[in-house]
Order: sequence, then C-alpha cells, then structure tokens
Amino acid sequence: MKYVEGLRCRECGRDYPVAPQHVCEFCWGPLEVVYDYDAIASEVTRAGIANGPESIWRYAPLLPDPGGERVDLGAGWTPLRRAPRLAAELGLDRLWLKFDGLNPTHSFKDRVVSVALTTARSFGYNVAACASTGNLANAVAAHAASAGMDSVVFIPNDLEAGKVAATTVYGGRVLAVDGSYDDVNRLCAELAGDHPWAFVNVNVRPYYSEGSKTMAFEVAEQLGWRAPEAVVVPVASGSLLTKFNKGLKELHTVGLLNEEPTTVVHGAQAEGCSPVARAFAQGAVEVRPVKPRTIAKSLGIGNPADGYYALRDVRACGGTITAVPEDAVARGMTLLARTEGLFTETAGGVTIATLERLVREGTITRDQETVALITGVGLKTLEALGHNEPTHLREASVEAVDHALGGVSI
Ligand SMILES: *Cc1c(COP(=O)(O)O)cnc(C)c1O
Ligand SMILES: [Zn+2]
Repeated sequence: MKYVEGLRCRECGRDYPVAPQHVCEFCWGPLEVVYDYDAIASEVTRAGIANGPESIWRYAPLLPDPGGERVDLGAGWTPLRRAPRLAAELGLDRLWLKFDGLNPTHSFKDRVVSVALTTARSFGYNVAACASTGNLANAVAAHAASAGMDSVVFIPNDLEAGKVAATTVYGGRVLAVDGSYDDVNRLCAELAGDHPWAFVNVNVRPYYSEGSKTMAFEVAEQLGWRAPEAVVVPVASGSLLTKFNKGLKELHTVGLLNEEPTTVVHGAQAEGCSPVARAFAQGAVEVRPVKPRTIAKSLGIGNPADGYYALRDVRACGGTITAVPEDAVARGMTLLARTEGLFTETAGGVTIATLERLVREGTITRDQETVALITGVGLKTLEALGHNEPTHLREASVEAVDHALGGVSI
C-alpha cells in the first residue's frame, strides 16, 4: 500500500503495521489507517483524478490499495443530482441528492466492500464474511462471487425479503440468527477469533470503513471541487458519517480543496433505533445501546461501533443528529419519489424526513447548499410501503378509463 504508513489506535495513538486487526491490544480502541499525506499531496491532482476510472478507485491514493488486482464491480461515481422540485417543496434554494442506489448491488455498501475485499485478498483470505443489516450482505456476496471467493454472511432473521433474495442469489452461505443485528455482530466477533475468514466489518474494518470516504470525495469533485455547506447522512454504526467528514478534510489536507471545508454534518436515524440521536439530545458523550425496533432495518444497529465518534464529529462542526418518527420513514420515501422520481429504501426515507424537519425547524437554512445522501434503493424494502393496489379497470375501454379517473382531466 504505497501511501499507507500503517494502522493507529484512535484512543491511545499506538502504531501497528498493516494487518487484519481492528482493535488496539493495549486499550481496545479502534484502529484506523494512517497515510503519508505529504507524499499523496505531491502526486495527486484534480486532472489525474478526472482521468481515472469512473469508480471509487479514481481516489486510489487516498484508499488502502495493496497494488494487486482489485475486487471491483464498479462501485462508486454515482450521480450527484440537483433536486429542484424537492428543494422547492422543502424551502431550499440549492439541494443535491447523492444517489448511491446506482451501485452494483444498489447501496453505498459496495464502496466499503470493494475496499475491504481488495485488502482481504492481499492478506491471503479466501472467504469473505460479515454481520449485516441487509445491504452489506448483498455487497459481500456479490463481490466475493466476482472474485471467486467464498462468502458466509450473517443476518438477523427479520430482514426484508428483497434483501435476502439479493444475497442468496450469488451462491454464498447466508445464515440467519434469531436476534438483532447486535446479536449477529457479537457472534461474528467471536467467530473472527478462530475462523480464517475476512469479516469485512470486524477484522478488516479499518480498511472497510475507508471506502465510505469516497462518498465525500465524489460529492466535492462533482460540485467542482467544493464542499457543500450542509449534508444529511443516515446513521447505523456511524461509520459513513465519520468517514464522510474525514474524507472532506483529507481533500483539503492533500490540496484538492483550496479552502478548509466548513460543512455542517447532520445525522439521521429513525426513532425505533436512535441511540446516537438520543445521546446527542441528552448532551451525552457515550452512546447507550438500545434494542432496535425500526422499519428502517438497514439502520437497525442498537450498539453503534462509531456512535461515539459520530457524536464528536457532529458537535465539532455544529451539526445535529435527529430521530424521525417511524411513520415519517415511508412518507420520506414517497416524498422523494413523487418530487424527484427516485425510489429509495427506508434509510433514504429517514434521510429525507430528517432533511424536511431540519429545514422546517430552521436548522438548515434556505440559502445553505445542501446534499442528502440517498444510500439505497426502494425495491429492496417494498414492505415499508404497505399495500399499494392499482385502480382496477372493469374493462379495457375508454369509458372505463374515464370512469376510473372520475372525469378529471389530467
Ligand atoms: C449501512 C447503511 C447505512 C449506514 O451505515 P453506517 O456506516 O453503518 O452508519 C446507511 N444507509 C444504508 C442504505 C445502509 O445500508
Ligand atoms: Zn490503544
């Protein structure tokens, strides 16, 4: 890894070599990848990036990149779309949607998995594994299949049918646990101790989480190398939020952004699983675990690994973490679909509902250029919308159509 110096403990600062290890042996703090930013700054340019692949790997110098063949289905370089109709409805002048539903397995998890498995393979692993709330399972199974690796993914037993089908199709092993994501995660932490498997969000988590930075890199590049004024990020473990924030800062550190970003980062959760939002509201430093009971299953992590850091980051930049009511989630999904023609999953519904609330309360102001991260697609979470029957025509005739539309001309 050309620009990677090693791993460092986020708590005590001890250094470790590049290895499949995620916690500090001295203080149990999480390990993070450390780069030689001077070396990166002297080599990366905006033009060089523009000539790179249309994927996350255009930012390879700012990622763990072992140099061999990558595990790459083409994740990343998803559209940043203007959202004028939603902006008008909410009362914003400039709103953008980063639509990560267009990734290979239709969620932002393809970014992290491409990085995690590329690193895992360089360590010699042949089996990819994970604990997942759904989308990660899809991404791990697909990337493993494409790389000729075996996969073993662990999920809670109450996931949406679409998420399960979109995982089993790739031919790996899918194991459902009676319990919540947090139970699944505990099991995986135990398994990682004595199985020679690359658990993307356990033993290779330091590399995995770096993949989320590419969301920030793309947003900045797509805005013409500028940082937005505000961003709304869905929060499960809190990794995407903290890495989006880190990614923006890195662009400035290596000279790709002229000005230090002052982006206000807002986190979004659903009330049924909102441990980070609750800690934020209470002014607490630590996150107290909860039992997840939310329709937004992809955000259903009751004991978020990066919750503490997400709280620290939003407080440092003047942001917030909001919990929206459970019944606002489907409304957020339909609002986005109705105004912008984008069908997002429940996590996107949480993001849009949070954005709506932040604008209504004046936390995000009309003139702030805002980006909402839409991290997955709605076809995987059809259950959340309930039954939506079409209007039945009594016969295939013009009269029947006019009757069905109630004489209203459209
Ligand atoms: C996993 C996931 C998130 C949040 O991820 P964290 O990095 O764990 O906070 C957001 N949206 C979707 C659709 C996801 O699958
Ligand atoms: Zn430590």
